[in-house]
Amino acid sequence: MGTSTRRLVLLGATGTVGLQTLNIIAEADLPLQLVGLSAHSNSESLSRLAHSHAAAPTFLTSQESQNDSLLAFLSDSNAYDICLNAVVGAAGLPFSHAVLEAGCDLALANKESLVCAGELLTQLAKKSGARILPVDSEHSAIAQCLQTAPSSTIRKLYLTASGGALRDFSLIEMESATPDQALAHPNWEMGTRITVDSATMMNKALEIIEAQHLFGVAASSIEVLVHRQSVVHSMVEFVDGSVLSQMGPPDMRFPIHWALSHPNRCASPLHGFDLDLYSKLEFEKPDLSRFPAIQLGQKAAHMGGAAGAVLNAADEVAVEAFIQGNLPFLEIASVTQTVLDQLGTKPAHTLKQIFEADQQARQLARELIRTPAT
Ligand code: NDP
Ligand code: MG
Repeated sequence: MGTSTRRLVLLGATGTVGLQTLNIIAEADLPLQLVGLSAHSNSESLSRLAHSHAAAPTFLTSQESQNDSLLAFLSDSNAYDICLNAVVGAAGLPFSHAVLEAGCDLALANKESLVCAGELLTQLAKKSGARILPVDSEHSAIAQCLQTAPSSTIRKLYLTASGGALRDFSLIEMESATPDQALAHPNWEMGTRITVDSATMMNKALEIIEAQHLFGVAASSIEVLVHRQSVVHSMVEFVDGSVLSQMGPPDMRFPIHWALSHPNRCASPLHGFDLDLYSKLEFEKPDLSRFPAIQLGQKAAHMGGAAGAVLNAADEVAVEAFIQGNLPFLEIASVTQTVLDQLGTKPAHTLKQIFEADQQARQLARELIRTPAT
């Protein structure tokens, strides 16, 4: 199918998405040559991966000099063709920025890049001719549904959500939910931060903002539906009333493979249809009294500017405090809401402004966690 070998840089190689990427590249024998791998501090695992995948060079980004070398590497469009960014958190943003500025393709798992700097990055991609290929499963599903239709034909986007580990907990039970309970996700194998974000459904808040920027639709046209089976990865309703969806088992190797093959459809050993899995597909409206975070996503998307960066930064701090046993589960959304209300109107014209807003939001979140409202 005319697929010449492309050079790939994989960021966040030691994480859940990073490892799944290495797995599917090998399993599907994709025409890719690894020319760079990054991790943050897990040097042992990074060296092991570099050894088994014959990739050079490697970058350990907790070391400032290697972080700078990585940014320089990503700025050189002659050095690679596509970068898959699977770093967790706002820390992934400078890398996405460097890739798009260089005009290279960006396979994006790091949703925080678009949540923090969606306007800046989509404008940059337009200017440099780079493509942003979503790896987040919902956005991959929507991108696949939109392949033959322009964004102007969208009436509504339905983002599906598993409901997370606490979907059947009452509000009272949620009050005392432990990290172990919040981390026991029913459908997906994921890193710590996104698994807690799934339990609060803050993950959908971030995904509303991500979808707004990727597909150019207003937040009011994006609806979240709880879909317990995680088979329908999202749906698009078009202006003529037709609804398209993309389906498959909950396995991130599908959207990773799609992004790394695009615009081709390359063969893979994955199988999408499973009668047992597909025999019962349920959809329901989320319970906003138990999952108030969803509304914060709608609110931040309406506010624009640095609201997404502020929401994300406050949530990163609150999730960490929850994991360490320093914040009750339900307080993750309340701390985040207070920070968004106080700092959400900051501007986001430059990376510098975005990181200032991010830092201020982190500081305020830490203060609120040290001195709880009650
Ligand atoms: P993990 O926590 O499993 O992995 C995170 C990766 O990022 C690791 O390689 C880690 O390196 C690296 N990293 C951590 N902190 C930093 C930092 N400050 N600077 C640079 N690199 C850093 O996360 P996931 O794989 O679950 O998620 C990665 C991204 O993909 C997130 O944005 C998430 O929202 C998104 N995503 C994940 C999905 C999933 O199924 N897991 C689904 C959809 C989206 P080290 O090992 O050295 O710490
Ligand atoms: Mg997702």
